[in-house]
Amino acid sequence: MHLAVLTQRRSHTGVAGAALGRVGGPALALALALPRVASTAPELEHAIERAHGIEVQTVRTAARMTWRSRSVICPARVGDKQRPVGTLYIRQLLVGRDIGRANPAGKQMQNFVYLVGDKDAGACFVVDPAWDVAGIVERAGEDGMKITGALVTHYHPDHVGGSLFGLSVEGLADLVAKNPCKVHVHKLEADGVKRVTGISEEDMVRHEGNDKVSAGEVEVELLHTPGHTPGSQCFRLKSALVSGDTLFLQGCGRVDLPGGSAEEMERTLSQRLSKLPDDLTLYPGHAYGGEHAPLGEVRRTNPFLSSFQKRSRAR
Ligand SMILES: [Zn+2]
Ligand SMILES: [Zn+2]
Repeated sequence: MHLAVLTQRRSHTGVAGAALGRVGGPALALALALPRVASTAPELEHAIERAHGIEVQTVRTAARMTWRSRSVICPARVGDKQRPVGTLYIRQLLVGRDIGRANPAGKQMQNFVYLVGDKDAGACFVVDPAWDVAGIVERAGEDGMKITGALVTHYHPDHVGGSLFGLSVEGLADLVAKNPCKVHVHKLEADGVKRVTGISEEDMVRHEGNDKVSAGEVEVELLHTPGHTPGSQCFRLKSALVSGDTLFLQGCGRVDLPGGSAEEMERTLSQRLSKLPDDLTLYPGHAYGGEHAPLGEVRRTNPFLSSFQKRSRAR
């Protein structure tokens, strides 16, 4: 028996979910989907017992469970059939500060590279490995993480490497040579990625929108978000949304470059991304107007996003 803290999460549909954290003992990684019928503490206890076979004993709670978050202490069995869910690992690397310090062009571009994955498993993807591949691999190693794949937001050389303003930028080709792994791209971006970086078809996995890939137990959903380029992708994993050049804190990606489309960008911002919850943290591809922020805040403060949303609501 191990003690765990059960936190009930507020949801507009009622009690929809809860997470068990640990108080001493081995790590407990359980995410419970709770029935929506429970409105009192005894009902909630019963519901958890029935649904998950965990013996629940409320130690501290109010007589009535409301929809607000509250904690109860309960003993839980470890090693039940619940699938481990992994612990989100996300590291934001700013070019010119955290990597590629000797690269003035990279510093000027204010690109972000991300390491995202499963802390427990020590496995991560690198999102848009460019400018300083050795530095990226080194940062991952410092955190005890192994890079098991690359995710590509889009094919521009500041994100994947290649030739940019007459400069040769490190990127995917250097990554697959130094740290062999698959490169996950949207199918509409694949030919552009090959042309710009010189990687081979065998290095790549071509994806459809909404495909999923995993690092350890952490699943990443590949969202197709065209507008900046035809095969632009955003990546959703647990509480994070990595958005590349589709969305910045104070703007969105250019639509006047080859393959860009203002209509597609409007559809992406007003429809494709509009269902995502406010409490996701947005991690953009450049440090334009900030490094990260809750999506709900970006919806209120980003002039592009709020005007597109208003227009689509008015329709
Ligand atoms: Zn771009
Ligand atoms: Zn860019």
